[in-house]
Amino acid sequence: MKLHSVFGIVFFGTICFAHSEISTRYKTFSESSVRRCSIMKVRQPTFNICLAGQATGPDLERARTWAARASLTWLRALKVLDASVTRNILFTCEDKHLTINLRPGSGTSHASPSVTTIYLTRPYGTWTHELGHALAGLGDTYVAGSAGNCGSQPDSLMCWGAYGPRANPEEWSTLWQDDIQGIQYNFLKVLGNQSSSPQWAPSVDLEKSLNLNDPWPNSREEVFFEDHQVEVFEGPASEIDNSRSSESIDL
Ligand SMILES: [Zn+2]
Repeated sequence: MKLHSVFGIVFFGTICFAHSEISTRYKTFSESSVRRCSIMKVRQPTFNICLAGQATGPDLERARTWAARASLTWLRALKVLDASVTRNILFTCEDKHLTINLRPGSGTSHASPSVTTIYLTRPYGTWTHELGHALAGLGDTYVAGSAGNCGSQPDSLMCWGAYGPRANPEEWSTLWQDDIQGIQYNFLKVLGNQSSSPQWAPSVDLEKSLNLNDPWPNSREEVFFEDHQVEVFEGPASEIDNSRSSESIDL
């Protein structure tokens, strides 16, 4: 009984502290962790993605498309700051900048610097969210372990995960202002500006859908394919689970 009340006080104290100290904006990994993320490689001639794990043929095809699109969505938010950010995606497991482990079926997708594991029934927003960790070095902003429960934080991909008002990639990039400010902050902190912002930068709405074949003005996207480490097995394309009931299963 005594122990219980002690925990009660400690817990209450934590809430009060959190309420006064938490800034209402993006959360970043520590600087040393950001330096282990794929963001460090965005000025290389190609952004190298290694696909690994297991998938059916159709799922591997979709994984390539979504991996390229999600990567370019984050790269576009940096390209507007610095024209030297690459536009080229290369799928290769040699000199890899980002590893995506594909897992058939449903489960809890998760990420750490430069590596993510994604279940193949997850919607597109899972891909951009997990790259928010592995590529951009951002932390989750949802509270109580539940995506979409943003507390005092602004709306963001890092809060909503695969769901929410901007889940449809045909309409939205899935990024919110908070996410864009977050990756730009990390970029300037660990890499700094090298070249100037491209002239077209003000004309692009980073919150709107990205066209994979033409991700930003004056620059056709190039996607090259060299190799992968995916164990491909027979089977149909996965059915994507868009149900809100599973909204909190990604980390
Ligand atoms: Zn997360």
